[in-house]
Amino acid sequence: MKLRISPLVVLCLAGMTSAQAGREASTVTNLLPNPGFEEAADAGPAGWTYDGPAARRAETWPDSGAHGGTRSIRFAAKTDHQRWESDLVPVRGGEPYRLEWWTELSGTIPWHWTTHTGLVGVRVTFYDVAGDRCGVFERRMRSIGTTDWAKAWVRFAPPAEATSCAVALVCEADIETDGVASFDDVSLAPIADRPAAPEGWGVLRGVIHVDGSDAPGDARVVVTAADGKRYAPAESYPFLDGTFHALAEPFEVALPPGPATVVVVHGFEYGVWRDTVDIRAGQATEIAPRLVRRWSMPAAGWYGGDAHVHLFFHRFSVHPQMVPATVMDIGRAEGLQWLSFKGEEKEAREFIEHGTPWRFPPTRSPEFIGEAGIEAVGDFHGHTYTVNARAIPSDGFPMKLIPWPMNFDMARDLAPRNGAIVYAHPYGGLQPDSVIAGMANPELLLIGREWPVDLALGQTPCFDLLRPESRNILGAELQDYYRMLNVGFRSGLSACTDAYVDQARTLPGAARTYAHAGELTWDALGAAHRRGATFVTNGPLVWFSVNGAQPGDDVSLARGGKVDVALRAVSNWGVIRAEIIVNGDVAGTVMPRADGEIRDTVSVTMPASGWIALRVFGPRPSDMPSRRRPRAGQGESGQLGQNQGRAAQRQGQTGQFAQRQGESGQFAHTSPVYVMVGGRPIRPDPDAARYFASWMDAYRTAVLTRADLFHNPNGTWSDEVKQQILDRIARAKAVYEQKAREGARR
Ligand SMILES: [Zn+2]
Repeated sequence: MKLRISPLVVLCLAGMTSAQAGREASTVTNLLPNPGFEEAADAGPAGWTYDGPAARRAETWPDSGAHGGTRSIRFAAKTDHQRWESDLVPVRGGEPYRLEWWTELSGTIPWHWTTHTGLVGVRVTFYDVAGDRCGVFERRMRSIGTTDWAKAWVRFAPPAEATSCAVALVCEADIETDGVASFDDVSLAPIADRPAAPEGWGVLRGVIHVDGSDAPGDARVVVTAADGKRYAPAESYPFLDGTFHALAEPFEVALPPGPATVVVVHGFEYGVWRDTVDIRAGQATEIAPRLVRRWSMPAAGWYGGDAHVHLFFHRFSVHPQMVPATVMDIGRAEGLQWLSFKGEEKEAREFIEHGTPWRFPPTRSPEFIGEAGIEAVGDFHGHTYTVNARAIPSDGFPMKLIPWPMNFDMARDLAPRNGAIVYAHPYGGLQPDSVIAGMANPELLLIGREWPVDLALGQTPCFDLLRPESRNILGAELQDYYRMLNVGFRSGLSACTDAYVDQARTLPGAARTYAHAGELTWDALGAAHRRGATFVTNGPLVWFSVNGAQPGDDVSLARGGKVDVALRAVSNWGVIRAEIIVNGDVAGTVMPRADGEIRDTVSVTMPASGWIALRVFGPRPSDMPSRRRPRAGQGESGQLGQNQGRAAQRQGQTGQFAQRQGESGQFAHTSPVYVMVGGRPIRPDPDAARYFASWMDAYRTAVLTRADLFHNPNGTWSDEVKQQILDRIARAKAVYEQKAREGARR
């Protein structure tokens, strides 16, 4: 792909998605010498100077495995600091530049790039007219592995007094790792010097306006050209499906001539903008989509977010230069109102101890806040993440396979500070018909083993119900969630994506939690999670109340009788059915009105204390391309069926229906409203209580049979720790047995 014309000019791709790899676009000036490292001088790349151990110089300029040509720069991350730095090139102070490079990262030692290294990435050093250093720009690549060669880019403006700069490719390792960082085909050019569209192509220019603002806004954009392919601008972070995000600036993308369709999406509350525009060769077509808010959840005190969003832990980076601030920008473009980024322990500690670096204040939109939080990956007791973590748990973070602390300890430490924990993908890896057996299997990690313990012992963790790639487990999750509510414990629902945004696979917020926080602060969001004032959705918006009380709230009745259930559900992509769930059964079904909305007030009889929730189904969105495809035979209306008898609708069948719909289409589910009759607690369902007692036996088995849990490469834990865990499980079991007796008696 490298076609060198002169030392200062290369052909480069004009910001195409991978669909266009191989198409040559126009020329831009490249200020860097010998940018593909092909030309030799002094047994190294001409125009570049090595700094590091002399004995290792030769290995950093290999003659195989390059991105283009035969030569590239390759650093093996041993206990060394190495770099190749360009000769000085002229720059103009204050003017924006783009530095672009191809990189390939590999290695298996987790997180080595940040925990055990200095900079791995690019460093641009600026000099003034006298030759004195006047500034530095750095971009660290924290990824531990890319998918093949990946293109990275950054923008920067040299300090006003700068007249020249040197670009260095850097690898600083403080321990020996198996990490390897390669660089090739580096380009530095003024932003103003944009590549023109390829011969015979046109250009689409767009600027997005949100809520009538004149300033460029944030949104997801899908541009499908006449050739059926999707295209994205050079300075964007395209996802694998070809969508990209416009982030508070106009965008420009070169397209083949003919009709191009443009879809602009800004979360669930704004109307989707769609148009087909004509792209003409050699011409620019301009669009200015105006996104209009159709529904405002914040107006009712509800705020939608995703508290489980990542970068870099799992390789396959497509955007290895991404930073958490970009994740925040993309989250905002997805219409999220809050986003909790789960990075490394170091980041969470910095955030908690020093606050500001990870606070993302409302800038472009007053309706967004971000934080860095904790993800606990001890994983034996269950994978959890936090909302509003403002304290280091007293026994630290379980960041490896270790038995202690348990999630209970995290929840207890966070509770007084309005922090919450959530069991993430609690049934991931389980088979629907063998949940208890899975809990007993000590090799299964990540599953929410400890969830019933925490509830029995007085904590209120949330339960993740929805994620974009949920497998055939939603029905089993719903069944057990309903069981837990029928025992009488309160656990709010939550939803997240677990998106690794650098992988460009899952969009943050594709599944999201709306919390009834009343105000957009982390304290209010954490408190809302703890009291279960939430609903989860991958599209539909839901308003739901019982005698005016919203999810997480109580309704008090002096004696049994009717309550008014007010419900409304809408979606940009349509809704097809809502079900009122009373104590785990479908008590009523509401279909859409002529205007497409579901809207009704239904009278429900509550003879005794219980709970009421709402779930909503919708068709699979046609223009949300990151969604998984429905499997063959998963139609929509054909499977709706009639409202069957109450008994037949007990968990099994409705669970299967919910599962099918939740997997293939839109799905939303509220946490319950609790109806308390005569001040009495919910009468425990004895079968459900016994179910969780048997879960405790399974949990105990897993603790006793995972031989390496208390003695493994991550450390050794005493018998007292094991006993404390077993004691908690035993106490929880006693609670469930007591509930079973109580339920059978009354
Ligand atoms: Zn995670």
